[in-house]
Amino acid sequence: MTQSTLIIGPIHHPRTVERLVVGKATSDGAGVKLTRVLAQSLQRRLDPFLMLDAFGSHNPEDYIAGFPDHPHRGFETITYMIAGRMRHRDSAGHEGLLENGGVQWMTAGRGVIHSEIPQQEEGVMEGFQLWLNLPARDKMTAPWYRDFAAAELPHFVTDAGVAATVIAGESHGVTGAVTRAATAPLYLDLHLPAGACFAQPLPAEHNAFVYVYRGEIGIAGSPVSAQHLAILANDAQADGVVIEAATDAKVLLIAGRPLNEPIAQYGPFVMNTEQEIYQTLNDFRDGRLA
Ligand code: FE
Repeated sequence: MTQSTLIIGPIHHPRTVERLVVGKATSDGAGVKLTRVLAQSLQRRLDPFLMLDAFGSHNPEDYIAGFPDHPHRGFETITYMIAGRMRHRDSAGHEGLLENGGVQWMTAGRGVIHSEIPQQEEGVMEGFQLWLNLPARDKMTAPWYRDFAAAELPHFVTDAGVAATVIAGESHGVTGAVTRAATAPLYLDLHLPAGACFAQPLPAEHNAFVYVYRGEIGIAGSPVSAQHLAILANDAQADGVVIEAATDAKVLLIAGRPLNEPIAQYGPFVMNTEQEIYQTLNDFRDGRLA
């Protein structure tokens, strides 16, 4: 779907940048090199989001081993593949090939064991994995999986020439590939030509951040350069965000309604209490997780 739109909702009180965060280089799975942009220390501040990893490399040694079988419980993973090919298989019987511009949305719920294995031996692999928490009442829901090829993702171009992919939520009258009632996640990939502006209404109480992966932007006068995550302040009056591209830029705009529930994480398991984590470890050990 492609449409252009005349209306940029007026933002009277744009959000400001509360702070900038630089990701930390790390590795996960069977040695995949990545940058953890949203780490555990930001889980409360950016509730309902638990993690954002950025991966990107020309070097197959950085990604080739992928993520062999591993478990999850209690949240959702959203993988957005900018470039490259990765095959997903899970214990609920889902299988999919994620490639160039596609999104995979997986609800781990009460438990999945899955693998994410690159299907390329050379070339660039670049993308993001976001973890979205589930409310306590849904943590033990049945697992769910869906993948969307790039052409299936809702897309629009503004009059200013900003190309937007709406992975989740709603923007400029376009509803995203996935919506979620409890956390109302908004997940936009925005490609802005130099000088262009993009405005997005946001409820004041929703936590929101922008991750710049190419170029440089400004938000309410604060410059944000590539590989920086800008946490947007939750001023009670603020009614949205305005992003101005200083250069050609590519950014993720992510926001959601906080759950305000306790977070207990042990690696790939995110529950509400320690007791539930012990239960999860027992379930996994005894083969009851998935
Ligand atoms: Fe995983």
